Amino acid sequence: MSRRQEEIIEIIKASGPITGKQIAEKLSLSRAALRPDLAILTMAGTIDARPRVGYFLSMNPSPPPFVRGTVQKSVSQYKAHPIVVQASASVYEAIVQLFLEDVGTLYVVDESGHLAGVISRKDLLRASIGTRSLEEIPVSIIMTRMPNIIMIGQDETLLEAARKMMEFQIDSLPVVKEVDKTTHTYSVIGRITKTTIVKAYLEIAGL
Ligand code: ADP
Repeated sequence: MSRRQEEIIEIIKASGPITGKQIAEKLSLSRAALRPDLAILTMAGTIDARPRVGYFLSMNPSPPPFVRGTVQKSVSQYKAHPIVVQASASVYEAIVQLFLEDVGTLYVVDESGHLAGVISRKDLLRASIGTRSLEEIPVSIIMTRMPNIIMIGQDETLLEAARKMMEFQIDSLPVVKEVDKTTHTYSVIGRITKTTIVKAYLEIAGL
């Protein structure tokens, strides 16, 4: 969306319904100069126009195709196999695992196989600085641990997964299944990464 289109939306948001002539005046533009942008916004479904009333924000704006696509796709359709390590595994073993599996994040599980934490590339790098005994430090010491793990269920949408990764500034989400409500235990059944979202984007765009 262009800067001018954003300005038009702001004006309509604040003063709609408002006529094209009034919007043009507020922007110090001619009606003719404004017409293409109003046409684009109307066609995109962002704004609506009614004769003799003016322009107003559309009640149910149609989301752009990618958003529509990700709203419809569920996490279960796109989830990849989760790569897990035991909480007792050493930082050294985790680094080896990261390279062998070619992933950026490992999920840490306890002896019962339940999600206990997450280890990212930077967590491992941080632990590697100033420590020579990477074989002796268990990953459980350096991982981000429950209950601070951001997870996603397989019936949630890809859009929700994308939103969580952006909001919490993380690269990946474990896809989980609740094992026990009272103890808040989860088993890891998959992973969604930023790459998953890019892949879905290309697929939905037909590229
Ligand atoms: P990197 O640290 O390699 O840039 P991230 O941005 O994913 O990768 O991780 C940033 C921090 O957030 C790390 O400390 C990591 O342990 C933590 N983290 C990663 N994924 C999650 C998650 N799903 N829930 C909670 N914390 C996470």
